[in-house]
This record gives sequence, C-alpha cells and structure tokens, in this order.
Amino acid sequence: MDRRNFFKLVGTASGGVVSGACGKQAEEIIPLLVPEDEIVPGVEEWHASVCQECGAACGTIARVMASEREIQVDGERFRQRIAAIKKIEGNPEDPVSGGRLCARGHSALQSLYNPDRLTQPLKRAGERGSGRFEPVPWEAALEEASDALARAVSADPGRILFLTPPRAGSRAVNIARFLESVGAPSARSIGFGDFAAEIEGARRAFGWEGVPLYEIQDATMVLSIGADFLGGWVSPVMYSRRYGHMRQGRRELRGRLVHAESRFSLTAWNADRWLPVLPGGELALALGIGRALVVDELVSNLDGVSPTVVSAFTDADPIWIEAVSGIPADAMREVAADLAAASRPLVVSGASIVRPNSADAVTAANALNLLLGRVGEVGGPMPASDSATARESTRPVSGDWVQRLAEAQLVFLDGVNPAYVAPHSASVLAAAETVISFSGFLDDSSVLADLILPDHDALERSILAVPDASPLPSVAAAAAFVAPLHESRPTEAVLVALAGAVGKPYEEFSVKSGLAQLHATLEPTASDTDSGAFVAGSLRRGGWQGERSGRAPEPVPRLDGFETDAGTEGLVFQVYPSSQFADGSGANRPWLQELPDPTSSAMWGMPAELDPGTAQELGVGNGDMVRVESVHGSLEAPAYVNPAAIPGVVSMALGPGQRHYGRYASGRGSNPMTVVGDLRDRTTGAAALGPVVVRIEKTSGEGRLIQFSRQDRDVPPHRV
Ligand code: SF4
Repeated sequence: MDRRNFFKLVGTASGGVVSGACGKQAEEIIPLLVPEDEIVPGVEEWHASVCQECGAACGTIARVMASEREIQVDGERFRQRIAAIKKIEGNPEDPVSGGRLCARGHSALQSLYNPDRLTQPLKRAGERGSGRFEPVPWEAALEEASDALARAVSADPGRILFLTPPRAGSRAVNIARFLESVGAPSARSIGFGDFAAEIEGARRAFGWEGVPLYEIQDATMVLSIGADFLGGWVSPVMYSRRYGHMRQGRRELRGRLVHAESRFSLTAWNADRWLPVLPGGELALALGIGRALVVDELVSNLDGVSPTVVSAFTDADPIWIEAVSGIPADAMREVAADLAAASRPLVVSGASIVRPNSADAVTAANALNLLLGRVGEVGGPMPASDSATARESTRPVSGDWVQRLAEAQLVFLDGVNPAYVAPHSASVLAAAETVISFSGFLDDSSVLADLILPDHDALERSILAVPDASPLPSVAAAAAFVAPLHESRPTEAVLVALAGAVGKPYEEFSVKSGLAQLHATLEPTASDTDSGAFVAGSLRRGGWQGERSGRAPEPVPRLDGFETDAGTEGLVFQVYPSSQFADGSGANRPWLQELPDPTSSAMWGMPAELDPGTAQELGVGNGDMVRVESVHGSLEAPAYVNPAAIPGVVSMALGPGQRHYGRYASGRGSNPMTVVGDLRDRTTGAAALGPVVVRIEKTSGEGRLIQFSRQDRDVPPHRV
C-alpha cells in the first residue's frame, strides 16, 4: 500500500488504594482510571492525546496526576485514589496546534468529568422523547442491539442509516468496515463542519481535491471572504498561529487583513478593515472585486488565466453586484487596488455561515487568486496535503441524509445531534423502528433512542485522526492512557461485537495497526526504525508528520459561470457557529457557558443580535425579549443591540435551546435552527444557516441577557 492509499484507508474510514472517608482503611475495591505507569502522588505525567472537539484534530498533551474521588460502596462513602487528568495543552510537536489550543480544546476536560455523563447502557422505558430510561447490563444491551441489527440486515440492509461527524481517522475506518460487513450503505454526516462548499470551491477554481491550505503567514495582504478563520473555521488554532506570524512574526513587515463577513465576528474584530457584506452577498462581492481587478486593469498580466475565468468576472452586472453585496463599488475598487498593489496578496475563501449559494461564492473568491497570479505561490493558496485530500474519498458526507432518515429502519447515532441542528428531522428520527445511540450524554437526539450504548470519552480512547487541514502530511494519534471512568465501551469494539453477533464478522482497525500500515508506506529513509518502534514513537509524540511534496500542481479551473439570484429583501436572520459552542455541542460545559461571547460578552445564553436602527424601530432595548418568526418557525430570545450589526440582519449562535443536554445546557434559551428550516447549499446539499426572511417583535416573555461587560463597548463604526 502506498502512502496515498493509506490515507484513503484512514479517511474512511489504577487500581485504587482507598481510604475510608471516616478514616477507616478499606480494600482495593474498584479498579478505576488505571494509568499505564503507576502514578506517584505530587508528580505529574504528560501524555499525548488528540482533541476531538472539531475536525482540526489538534495534537494535545494531557497532564495526569494522582488525585482522589468519593465513591459509595454498600452505602458507605470512601475516598478512592485515581489518576486524574488535570489540564490539557497543545502539543508543541504537532504541526496543527503547535502547542496551542482554543477554548473548546481546553474545555474537553469538562466532557470527561462532566456530572451528566452516562455511566452505563440505557434502555428506553417510556415514550420516545420522554427521557425515561432504565440502566441495563452491557450483555443485555448488546443482545437487544444485535437483535435489531439482525432484523434490519434480513429485511433490507439498505435501510440502515449510520449518522456520524464528517471526520477522518480510525473511527471512520471502523464504521466503514462495519457497514460494509452488514451490507449497509456508507455513513452520512449531517452536514455541519463538512466544508462541502470549500471542497467544491477548490475543485472548480483550482482543480484540487480537499480544503486548500491558505499560506496566511507568508502573505502581505489577506482578503478573507466568508471565512471566520480566527473564530472557528476549518482549523482555528492553526490559522490563529499563521495570522500571528503574518502580523508580528516578520521584522518590519506587518501584513494587512481585510475581512468580509455578514457579522462582526472574531476575524472581523481583528481585521484592519471589515466589509459588512449582506448575507448571501459573498458571491456578488467576490465578483465585484474581480471585476474591478480586470476592468480597472489593476492586474497587468492575465495571459495565463483562462478566458472563462476572466469573463465570469467581467460579465457580472455591477448594479446587481452592489445591490446584492451591500458594499459600495468604490469600496470594492479600493480593496481590489490594495490587493493588486500588495507583493503577496491572498484571498482566503470559506463559508463559516453556509448559504444556498456558498459553493459558487467560495469558487469565485478562490478564483480571485487566479487573477492575482498567486495560486501555488509562497503566501498563496496551496493544495491540501495528501493526508487531507486522500481521505475525501471515504469521509462521511451529508448528501441525502434527511431522505434516508425517513426511509430508515435502524438508525445509529454517533457523535451527532440531528434533532437539535435540524429540528425538522426530530419527528422523522422518532418514527424510525429502532434508534441506537453511542452518545456519552443524553441529548435531544439520544433521548429519542431505544438504546444508548455510551462511548468512552475522547480522553479515554485510542485515536488516529486525519486533520481537516495541516501544513504537512500528518496524522494525530493517541493511545488510551487512563482507564475509563464509567461503564462505557469504545464504539469501535461495540460495532465488532454487533457484527459478530449477526454472523458478519470483520477485523477491527486498531490505532496501532493503522500506524504500522502507515510505516509500511514510508520511504526507507523516513522509516529507518522498525515498525514497532515507529508505532511506539508515534504514540509517544502524538502522531506522525511527513514532508510536503514539491511545487503545487498548476491550477486547472473548471468555472462555468455562476448562478446569480436577486438576494434577500427585508429583515433577515442567520445562525452562526460560535467559537464557544460550535454546532451546539459545547453548551454542556460550564467553562464555555461562562466564557464571555467575543461580541456581546453574553454568558450562559446567546442573544439575538440586531442593529440599533432596527432596535429603535421596534422599540427594543438591550436585554428585551424579542420573538423572531419565519415561515419555518419562531423563537424567543433576549436582544443584544449590537452597534456593529449590519442594518436589517439578525444573527444568533447555535448552542441555546437544547432540551435534554444536561444541567448546564437544558432549558436555556431557544434553538435558532427552528427559524431557519431545512435550508441547503443548492450545489452541495450542505446544511445552510441562513439567510431567511423574518419578522421581529418585542414580547413580554421571560429571559435574561447576562453580559460580562456593558454592551456599550468601544465598537468601531462600520467601515466600508
Ligand atoms: S481547533 Fe480547538 S476544538 Fe478544534 S481540534 Fe483544535 S483545539 Fe480542538
């Protein structure tokens, strides 16, 4: 197997001494959190691990120390020695994190020790959605699950649906093997974080596979369109490091950042200039800037650029561009002139907030790099490393998951919460004959399950992960270094057991065997250790990284024009993934609930942001409750009158409005996705987050806006 095929493959796919609380000496009673080595009290150990909070798969190191916890045995309370993870940091040897982590990465500790974690398998004991479950032993739970699987396999394995995040690594390989063995279709994601628009945009603009790597650190001027790369887009830790270098890492050269997005995000806060583009107007903006580059003859040499690319920009109607983007033509001309004058300009193209036209918008913004002659150059866009591209052939994508859910007899839920992020799917999920969840927590989807077979926490598992973006071909790897806290089981092992029980056995893909296969693909010079030493070393260091291969291939654009639409009129609503809660999964962590939102400084709840003009028209003040209503549904939320909100654009983060997600998240606010409905990117089918036309009114409903600081912070006025 060569290295590319290896990545295709992974792309799919303490013994406690106890002393009694009352001073009585007790026996070693419950094996718990067994470290590989004996933990010495007061002495710390560091173990390599992998953050699984998003697809960036940052390499981490975890600080492990002796600790103790209280337990009850036969009604008597004891203190028990355990090996506890005290802190998680970035792994300095990891090419993605480089020793840094974002807030969500740090908060992963509060998943491991969360008081709402499920401690053993559960079986539904009441109506679906009632939240009534009874604990069952693992053997009984596996028997029930294998009976359901046997029924589905004998009826029609095509009606088995496995929903899982769009990640690549050992988990995806095991899921793929399981589904293949039972004859079921490949797994689907529910669209969040699959970067389908970015992948399509790179394919059409450059002819490349995967999410491109933007060499921000070597650029002298960056225009980012739609990519909140400091807030949560693709690999925020890696891009924050690159951004830091662009700004401060070069003597006498401070790179410039212009950011275009429909809300004042973290990246907008940090930019020299913010272009407040209307939601869905990113395509028009990219075409407007490209048109100025060509028509104003700002780029001197277009010889190497395909005429279809040039005409895609020159054919665009300037009146339409201005109306749909909301950005004055003069501002676009200024930005185009700045790009043309820069020695190393770069356009970063993304869809942090996916729109119905995101694939077109990302393609057009990428194509600006073609006009500027920067593709594959130092400080320009580069193709994704082979580890990131090869996995695309097998990584779960969203596709037709909603239709398939409606037809499914047996649904597996692994690390996804469709009932929250796509509320219209909740009733469909509830109608499936059998739902089996591997969630470690009760949430709005697992509450609809018949069986919950809780997975180990990421910090208790062995992991082999392929990052969504990496400067080098790399994988992040971790061996389990603490024993599980509860009666959970790794989902990989559960799938092997289920397939075996229905007479469809397959071989589990272990992290160690994956690393051994990687070793076999490496050049002899790069693999001068034996396989065992390579595997042990990779696990000790937290993964493997290779070298980038030569020059980027010449771009082969496949632009065939863009579908333009009239834009959206009236008051519009959009949802965004915040840097705290992402798709909402971070909402059960008190650290993240307490983290003041970078824009509103809101804590323990996220408001609906609206501009001062709209607020004045509606008679709404900061903290007043408002009802936001579309044809799809409505919500009530406290208002945050944001001086930097675009007039007529209302924004709200994912995270609030979960009903069954533990003590920190449940019953807190309203779900913004109820207003959005089943909106999709029309090219890729990825879940879109707006815009939708809404009506807003002030209500007397109950709710509270908690802010760390007053709202009247020093927010710069719009600069267009
Ligand atoms: S970017 Fe943050 S959440 Fe994502 S893997 Fe890295 S540390 Fe974890």
